[in-house]
Amino acid sequence: MDEEDRKKLLDILLDVSKTEESILRLMIIRAKMKVREAQSELNKLIWECSRRGHVVTKREKSGGAYCAICRIPLGWWCPKSPDHLCHYPNEEGYEKYENVYWENCVFCGEPNERK
Ligand SMILES: [Zn+2]
Ligand SMILES: [Zn+2]
Repeated sequence: MDEEDRKKLLDILLDVSKTEESILRLMIIRAKMKVREAQSELNKLIWECSRRGHVVTKREKSGGAYCAICRIPLGWWCPKSPDHLCHYPNEEGYEKYENVYWENCVFCGEPNERK
């Protein structure tokens, strides 16, 4: 390999690494776009959840309730309550159940403080 060829080869190699760099840059841009798309889809789903109401789901081990979509904790899961959440007489909308203990769920009778 003479000096001329060596130079040519070096040019080609430099060109290849430049191409790789721009491919990498394109991949990063594309990945960032995907992240943005996923984020907006996620926001839409969470927004749906706050509009239609949380999807009350029971945590089997603890007996607590959480939303299956946005995953926020919702208190205790209730077997008798219409929305499957425990409600207490000091809660807005549940004052009419004044015949039960203040600290207990108006539907299942379980206390708010549980282990
Ligand atoms: Zn939710
Ligand atoms: Zn209850």
